[in-house]
Amino acid sequence: MLTVYEGFFLNLCVLISSLFLYKQLFRKSYEEYHTTCMSLFRGFLAGFLGVVLMNFSISTGVNSIIDLRIIPLMLVVLYSDWISASVTATMIIITRFMIGVNSQSFSNVIFILVSWAVFHYFTKRIRNRWVCIAVMLGLSSLTYTLLVIFIPSTKSLNISLLINYWVVSILGGMISVYMMDYLTKSEQLFRQNKNFAFTDPLTGLNNVRSFDIAFNKAKRRQITTNESISIMLLDIDFFKQVNDTYGHLEGDVVLKKLAAILKSSQGPEDVVSRNGGEEFSVLIHDCTLKEANKRAEAMRKIVENSFFVINNGTKSIHITVSIGFTTYNDTTKEIDQLYDNADQALYAAKKSGRNRVCFYSQSSSLVN
Ligand code: GH3
Ligand code: MG
Ligand code: MG
Repeated sequence: MLTVYEGFFLNLCVLISSLFLYKQLFRKSYEEYHTTCMSLFRGFLAGFLGVVLMNFSISTGVNSIIDLRIIPLMLVVLYSDWISASVTATMIIITRFMIGVNSQSFSNVIFILVSWAVFHYFTKRIRNRWVCIAVMLGLSSLTYTLLVIFIPSTKSLNISLLINYWVVSILGGMISVYMMDYLTKSEQLFRQNKNFAFTDPLTGLNNVRSFDIAFNKAKRRQITTNESISIMLLDIDFFKQVNDTYGHLEGDVVLKKLAAILKSSQGPEDVVSRNGGEEFSVLIHDCTLKEANKRAEAMRKIVENSFFVINNGTKSIHITVSIGFTTYNDTTKEIDQLYDNADQALYAAKKSGRNRVCFYSQSSSLVN
């Protein structure tokens, strides 16, 4: 027979590993993803955990056992909604009736329903998380105590049963909430950092790392499809003047707006990136030199004709961009030279007066 400590340890292992598995399967929190189906499913999983915990009951003496069935119910009230809680509560109540219909199974109904009402009432009313959990579990344990005292049952009334129940349920509940909060936070941080690693924080576009990944993918795809690939590089003309005149923060506003323009005019398979400073790129799959030229010219005109609203909406300015582009397997014959060649074309566009589009040409200089 397991001692109370061994039983408690075993229950904690079941609880913690279940929460860990749940968070691996469902990485998004309730706020990020909730549908009725998901609520029902969460309720079912918590109910199942409750049933498992009933089977791992802890013996506190002859004819006196306790378990942690109440904790999954508290967790669904805290982390899901009333739909999940109803499923969990129903599963625990039905399972207890399946074990036997007696005074204990009826007192279990009262215990579950009162605890549910307590959890539901306090969950959003007490701001301090840990005070809230302590109050919820304390009142649930008080309900348990009163039921053991006042409802005649086969459970022998002894003080050690009650003390053990209070300690085990409050500790188990607190550790479970700590685990859930910890796993949810780590998951969110992991996703956030993953996102930052591949996204430019100012504009939300791909950063250089994502561009490199997309370019390598495009190269592999090209080998099988034999399609043309074009790269367009755009650089804002005289952007330093914008910063010098209106300030760096207003310059950032302009960069964001330009990013939004590029995004809205991108095709479904295009990869738009901010490759640094005020330089952007568009990687276009299955795009010939002629099509790339059309796209680049259209882009240049859109930017030229757009208003860039700055100074909190009180001023609007115009900017222009220079664009260089090249296409594999046309003007560029070595796929690894695509970026460098587009950069040379961009340089030519700058040199030949700015606000223009140039394509790379090996033989001479590159004017469109
Ligand atoms: P050009 O027509 O030759 O491209 O002239 P330019 O002034 O655009 O180019 P230059 O390379 O002289 O200056 C680029 C400017 O871009 C300087 C730098 O302060 C600014 N810049 C780079 N990154 C950022 C940024 O994240 N935010 C802001 N506001 N400005 C930036
Ligand atoms: Mg520039
Ligand atoms: Mg530049």
